[in-house]
Amino acid sequence: MTSPFDLSGKRAIVTGSTRGIGRAIAEAFLAAGAQVLVSSESVEDTETVSRELGQPGIAADVTIDGDLETLVDFALSEFDGIDILVCNAGITGKPGPFASVEMDDFDRVMALNLRSQVMLANLALPHIAAGGGGAAVLMSSISALRGNGAINAYALSKAGVSQLARNLAVEWGPRNVRVNAIAPGFIATDLSRPLLENEAFMARRMAMTPLRRPGQPEEVAVAAQFLASDAGSFVTGQTLVVDGGTVITDGS
Ligand code: NAD
Repeated sequence: MTSPFDLSGKRAIVTGSTRGIGRAIAEAFLAAGAQVLVSSESVEDTETVSRELGQPGIAADVTIDGDLETLVDFALSEFDGIDILVCNAGITGKPGPFASVEMDDFDRVMALNLRSQVMLANLALPHIAAGGGGAAVLMSSISALRGNGAINAYALSKAGVSQLARNLAVEWGPRNVRVNAIAPGFIATDLSRPLLENEAFMARRMAMTPLRRPGQPEEVAVAAQFLASDAGSFVTGQTLVVDGGTVITDGS
């Protein structure tokens, strides 16, 4: 019997798939039988990872609408259709409270983390629906779920991503397209490295995390596989928290 997590024959776009969580998702999807279009803003990284994974790749800066159009056109020409979209590319922006936010940084974070997902969903979901249906997975964060004093635009953009998943799930559900978000907690990647190297922060965060460790990109990737595959066939509009328990504890 075929596993409900199997992705044989599925065609996926994964943004930001040259390192970290996006690359782990690309590798998990590949291992499950999918074809994956590798992409990032870096031509060099995209070529390298595309070669390493043996999958087509195209550089696309998700903040440039024309690049996203090219990305979807390329997927259609390579794969003759799209079944899965993963909007993973993201940046943190400058830390600090809103009182000291720099609006150029705010605009960049919102464009990269949120606007790009709206744009790419509008470009790709009609093709997923036209092929009979499929799934989109949007990368949110646990910062979307709680107030904080240090990650202003990032948290706001990620809260927007979770809402986007709900709205798109409503819009596209009748055409058999499921849309969910993932809210990772602290995952060891380049993006989180500055915090990983901050001993005081890590001691505090791990004391507030029941599993007492950072997560690995692969532990987020399997959640994406669940949501993208038949295993998640009745799940839509949700934000799945993958955080070692950080948000469910009062820290006691
Ligand atoms: P990362 O920095 O390791 O990788 C980010 C990827 O996005 C890279 O492939 C990079 O090339 C790509 N990217 C960056 N700017 C881009 C652009 N303008 N256009 C296209 N691609 C671009 O980060 P990560 O930790 O793997 O994070 C992946 C996603 O997970 C992000 O959306 C991030 O916000 C989210 N997230 C990460 C954590 C964590 O602790 N690492 C926690 C919660 C959410």
